[in-house]
Amino acid sequence: MYLVDSHTHLVSFARRGNAGDAIMRAVEAGVERMVTVGTEPDDWSINRDLAASHPGVIDYTVGLHPTSVDDQWEAALAALPEALDWEPRPVGLGEMGLDRFHLPGDPDEAARIFARQENAFRAQLDLARGTAWPLVIHSRGAVEACVEMIDESGVDWTQVVFHCFSDGPELLAPILERGGRASFTGIVTYKNAEKVRESLKRQPLDRLMFETDAPYLAPVPKRGKPNEPAYVRYIAEFCAEILGMSEENLATLTTKNAKAFYDLK
Ligand SMILES: [Zn+2]
Ligand SMILES: [Zn+2]
Repeated sequence: MYLVDSHTHLVSFARRGNAGDAIMRAVEAGVERMVTVGTEPDDWSINRDLAASHPGVIDYTVGLHPTSVDDQWEAALAALPEALDWEPRPVGLGEMGLDRFHLPGDPDEAARIFARQENAFRAQLDLARGTAWPLVIHSRGAVEACVEMIDESGVDWTQVVFHCFSDGPELLAPILERGGRASFTGIVTYKNAEKVRESLKRQPLDRLMFETDAPYLAPVPKRGKPNEPAYVRYIAEFCAEILGMSEENLATLTTKNAKAFYDLK
């Protein structure tokens, strides 16, 4: 059985010097490819180096995460076009988007920071318009605002994935209607995540992808422990049960989807 971890953060392992071990455990668990996702300029080159030393196993994206949008965001954005030209080539742009969960309590300060997130998101969408880059969208408490901004940007919705989808079907519907997709993490295995399981069932199978978003959000039965790419198999196992499919078929299907979405060679 072969799986793809379509969204992970190997940088957190690399910074502790154990990315090699995590990659080896993943490959042993049947995870043939991993996409390690960029959040800020500091991690782009670490991800690129991991991809360079693991061809055919590790791919990476570059982008500015909403919670990494600080006073220096314009400089970070200015460095993006060059990073998109690096060798080996990134396979996508992101993660980018809007995050209301980590805003400060003071309403004026929160509004100022959210507006800055919108500016950085809009700038990345502008960069993506007219290109074929797959776009990794991060949304916490902001699906409608993200949908509106993507609509305004004119990017092709078939390039769009809302990663770590943690909302219900009513918020998935506008994404699917437009040709976009959601991908699912270990959250789908959590007891209180019934609405996420409802979304999983609505997601057309030909757009379904799994991800760990490691090192966070370890799936049951590893919940509460540090997450790692090998655990994408627990997500697949759990979802196969929910969707009434064999694990083998679901693995084959989601692997094909992730490879097609990111055009993994
Ligand atoms: Zn994210
Ligand atoms: Zn992420």
